[in-house]
Amino acid sequence: MEDTTRALFDAALRVQEHAHAPYSNYHVGCSVLTSSGQIYVGANIENAAYPQGLCAEATALAVMASHGERQAQVVLTVCDSEGLATSCGGCRQKIREFATSETIIHACSRNGLWATYTMDGLLPDSFGPEHLSPE
Ligand code: ZN
Repeated sequence: MEDTTRALFDAALRVQEHAHAPYSNYHVGCSVLTSSGQIYVGANIENAAYPQGLCAEATALAVMASHGERQAQVVLTVCDSEGLATSCGGCRQKIREFATSETIIHACSRNGLWATYTMDGLLPDSFGPEHLSPE
């Protein structure tokens, strides 16, 4: 694992410990490296009113955007799964809002890296901000 990926993995692993997942008992941590070199993190935050829960990617991206950052270069998730688990469909779209087609998304378990995708690979032919911008 290269240094940047290791830093993102360690950050996601640490924040995974703070997941609020009393209903699913499925803990997820997410880290985002921005174009400015900052790393933002988030964990999944469930709610007794189930649909109000948030995925880790959503919380990490919300923290990133709340700090004025708009460009995710690398996104990394750490899940409880033993095998490969990737971002849900909704999170793929949430990442897409702040991604380029080349943004890297790493899917990890607590034991390490399982798979690496580009944004285009994880959400091909996607809808994004440019579709709402006048030419
Ligand atoms: Zn999700």
